[in-house]
Amino acid sequence: MSNLYDADLHMHTTASDGGYTPTELIKKCHDVGLTYVSITDHDTVQGVKEAIEEGKKLGIHVIPGIELSTYARRTSIHILGYGLNINHRVLLETLEDQRKQREERMSLIIERLSQVGVTLHAEDVLKYVDGGSIGRPHIARALLEKGYVQSVSEAFDRFLAIGKPCYVPKRREMTPEEAVELIHNSGGVAVIAHPIYYELDDYLESFIVEMGVDGVEVYHRDHDENATAHYEHWTTMLEEKYQIRLLRTGGSDFHHEAYGRQLVPLGEKRVANELAEELIAAIARR
Ligand code: AMP
Ligand code: FE
Ligand code: FE
Ligand code: ZN
Repeated sequence: MSNLYDADLHMHTTASDGGYTPTELIKKCHDVGLTYVSITDHDTVQGVKEAIEEGKKLGIHVIPGIELSTYARRTSIHILGYGLNINHRVLLETLEDQRKQREERMSLIIERLSQVGVTLHAEDVLKYVDGGSIGRPHIARALLEKGYVQSVSEAFDRFLAIGKPCYVPKRREMTPEEAVELIHNSGGVAVIAHPIYYELDDYLESFIVEMGVDGVEVYHRDHDENATAHYEHWTTMLEEKYQIRLLRTGGSDFHHEAYGRQLVPLGEKRVANELAEELIAAIARR
């Protein structure tokens, strides 16, 4: 096991709301010296194959990944899946259903926007979409381009976030339990993404134990020193309390330098190679 910090297990491409194609992103990973990476697009594995192929050319180990959007306890909970079989039939059917639901939701959000005097057309949004998952960030970028907001964050704060006037849920949001089952059934390991976002540690504790969740994203760009220490401690506490083993993962959640929740360049948030190696070993055991 090495003690290098050249891993990043959480990032997005144009298959969902990232700004670079899988090939471009893996090239960027190479430029900043990453050696273990995972593409974790929202509700799609469309970018994985291309990323793996580019990784082979550049000597980067690309772990197949996904970030599933789920809804519980009045909030959006993201579940990361690693090492899944990206050709699994039920997985692909479920993701296709999610893709359609995201398309429907886009139209409903555009309708809501028109009710508050904001005119947007489907084409304004779709020009940012690459055939994969349509997300609110694409709508936010259209609002930015049309001058309705000054930033993607402002679009969320004023219109798109949960509780704001133009928020619309998907017709049927996946539950965290369904997400873990889907990941397990397609041969992957399931990890709770950026737990600091939810403030639901007690719920997550029983969820981890009951569903056999495999790990926690302890290291994330939005986990400050306190949050990181908290989740390191929490993960160890759960292992001891329930006599289970949990993976620790982490990453940058990189989308693009110019948009995303934070405008941190790729390569600034890195995690230990050891975590990636343990993740790969856990995938191999499944
Ligand atoms: P969706 O997939 O449509 O549910 O959109 C969720 C995505 O929107 C997240 O993964 C983030 O990339 C992005 N997002 C959420 N909140 C914000 C925010 N306040 N500012 C910028 N991007 C955000
Ligand atoms: Fe995103
Ligand atoms: Fe997320
Ligand atoms: Zn993400």
